[in-house]
Amino acid sequence: MNIAVVGAQWGDEGKGKLIDILSENMDVTVRYQGGNNAGHTVVVGDKEYVFHLLPSAILHKGKVCVIGNGVVVDPQALIAEIDDLKKRGFKITSANLKISGRCHIVMPYHRILDALRESKRKNKIGTTGRGIGPCYADKVARCGIRMVDLLNPRLLKGKLEDNLTEKNEIFQKVYNRKDFSFGDIYKEYCDYGKKLEPFVCDTALYLNEAIDSKKSVLFEGAQGTFLDIDFGTYPFVTSSNSIVGGACSGTGVAPTKIDKIIACVKAYTTRVGEGPFPTEFQTGLKEEIRAKGNEYGATTGRPRRCGWFDSVLVRYSVIINGINELAIMKLDVLDDLDELKICVGYKYKGKTHKDFPMDFDVLNEAEPVYETMPGWKTKTCGVRSFAKLPKEARRYIKRLEELSKVKVKYVSIGTKRSEIIVL
Ligand code: GDP
Repeated sequence: MNIAVVGAQWGDEGKGKLIDILSENMDVTVRYQGGNNAGHTVVVGDKEYVFHLLPSAILHKGKVCVIGNGVVVDPQALIAEIDDLKKRGFKITSANLKISGRCHIVMPYHRILDALRESKRKNKIGTTGRGIGPCYADKVARCGIRMVDLLNPRLLKGKLEDNLTEKNEIFQKVYNRKDFSFGDIYKEYCDYGKKLEPFVCDTALYLNEAIDSKKSVLFEGAQGTFLDIDFGTYPFVTSSNSIVGGACSGTGVAPTKIDKIIACVKAYTTRVGEGPFPTEFQTGLKEEIRAKGNEYGATTGRPRRCGWFDSVLVRYSVIINGINELAIMKLDVLDDLDELKICVGYKYKGKTHKDFPMDFDVLNEAEPVYETMPGWKTKTCGVRSFAKLPKEARRYIKRLEELSKVKVKYVSIGTKRSEIIVL
């Protein structure tokens, strides 16, 4: 059985924990989009691991992790992540890590351009500044540098020369910044190529052969549906397809081979960076939930904005991603609340929108229509079965299920691997 896990909100839903649990029973885990702008946090015993590029399944012995062609790789960040895990006692070899030769490479000029562009914008998009957007832009503009190019110094030389001719002119004339040195970058990236070469292969072939030989593959989404370049709250989005469609183009595995799609949602909503957020808390709850849920970005440490669960948003995600099962994460964060609200529509200029609107003004100015439910005021972290949850918590989950029109399969009530209820 091949499973895809996607985020159904604005990312940070807790996919890392679910993927960590599921990957124990899967043979292969593959990342399909994004770059080191993503961050999954996994807690094992008293140790915390934060992943930016490597699939978190690397923590499990005997499992294969793949970085698919849809991912953009900053080699410096990837090598640092590999070295860090090695230092912590994990074995990383060509047997358990495979990187697509088709991945596009984040170059130093991408990182700088990311920061310079954001600094010039009046309407900031909240980029993580890792160079991911400019790298994807070069991919589409057909001037990108790919992982295979790092293994071929002659090809790399030509491509880097062309890029620097254009980019140095832009940096000088538009941003009044000094030139990038060809020699320094060329040497640095040839060295990265040598280090990463053992892991590089045609991962599309590898994955399809694995599936043909009845191995199970887990597709690991990064970010979330509303950060998707096509379906997110554009332009406050990431530069790749974080919806499940990206799993196919980002790995070379056909949609017919994905058997199940699971969406992770928080029991409330968060978003990091700029952009519309209809159910954002306007009161002291903002700080309370941020503190309880430890809502700070795993990549940038930025405080996340917090709000009520938005069923309009999640229902749209369920449609776009063809979700089969929901995983509701971080229910425990709501344990102390007297009452909870669920957004069931957006009111704008006398009209109630039941479907997620495309129009920015509606999103920004709409008044959420809420249903209110009583809280459970009981600790849930020790509960291991749905029946043992307080009845108000069960009612809350059942209501989320009804509104999303998809069954809830997992409820997470803490950071630890064991703190999960399977329905
Ligand atoms: P991802 O990008 O979707 O993997 O999400 P992150 O890893 O950025 O954020 C999830 C954070 O929530 C991590 O720090 C997890 O350890 C934590 N987490 C995951 N599930 C739960 C849960 O059920 N309860 C609590 N309190 N924390 C959780």
